[in-house]
Amino acid sequence: MEQDYESVIETSTITFNDVGGMEDLKEEIKLNIIYPFKNPELFIQYGKKAGGGILLYGPPGCGKTYIAKATANECGATFLNLSIVDILDMHVGISERKLHETFELARRKSPAVIFIDEIDALGNDRMRTGDNVYARTLVNQFLNELDGLSSDNSSIMVLGATNVPWYVDTALRRPGRFDKTIFVPPPDNAERNQIFKIFLSGKPIANIDYNKLAYHTAKYSAADIVAVCNLAIDKKIKEAIQSGKKEPITTNDLIDAIKQVYPTTLEWLQTAENYVKYSNQSGLYDAVLNYLNKRD
Ligand code: ADP
Repeated sequence: MEQDYESVIETSTITFNDVGGMEDLKEEIKLNIIYPFKNPELFIQYGKKAGGGILLYGPPGCGKTYIAKATANECGATFLNLSIVDILDMHVGISERKLHETFELARRKSPAVIFIDEIDALGNDRMRTGDNVYARTLVNQFLNELDGLSSDNSSIMVLGATNVPWYVDTALRRPGRFDKTIFVPPPDNAERNQIFKIFLSGKPIANIDYNKLAYHTAKYSAADIVAVCNLAIDKKIKEAIQSGKKEPITTNDLIDAIKQVYPTTLEWLQTAENYVKYSNQSGLYDAVLNYLNKRD
């Protein structure tokens, strides 16, 4: 049985240096996760407890999982990568047990960062089996685990992620649970520039005009940029096989690839705009609003 749960443990070699941009988020994470893990006594002296949760939201492919992995590595913590959809089970009680076992595993392997993707699937329509009580029990189980009712959570940090924050159960956002809700936007111009640089570093490249690449990829997610680079690389490899000559990747190769990859964040931004307009009473989505009002 233990074997099953262990599969959520991933080794991470990514550091903050591999993560382009996201400077504000890195600062938040340092303050809320890395420093408390590294200096627990200092935080205790000031009456603060380590552990807790941060909820990351935004369009897919913009680095939520990536920064969570880097975080675990930066603080020498075990990284557990869990998707709520993976633990959902038709049979009452099984999902709750899987969730509990995962938290127990994290406690045994602490310090640990548990990354929980698709946190919106907790308690929402996707898991209803015609019986709402069933959905609530898993939410309650999760809240118990987060609250650490019967266990010590001080060396466990939970990073939740969702593309649809408007579906996340409000109970999860109460103090002591996901204390912070942070928007992870598509990378801005400077960040795109950096993501291209990071991805292409060490590869055979000619003089690359990174500013030009960043300029032509407004609203592209980091994953879209990776797709662009891979497309250009595949073309180069194909050509090298045909000609027997290895040519470096050029700016034009990448510009050609950009034309073939569509930015995947547009649909998300469109949907978000509606939610921000009509359900931002508490200012929860101010960061999205600021982003939408900014020119890139
Ligand atoms: P999300 O969890 O938001 O859907 P991911 O974290 O899985 O997105 O990001 C997809 C991929 O994009 C990552 O595997 C990584 O290769 C790349 N990536 C994302 N953010 C960054 C970043 N800030 N710097 C460099 N590469 C990134």
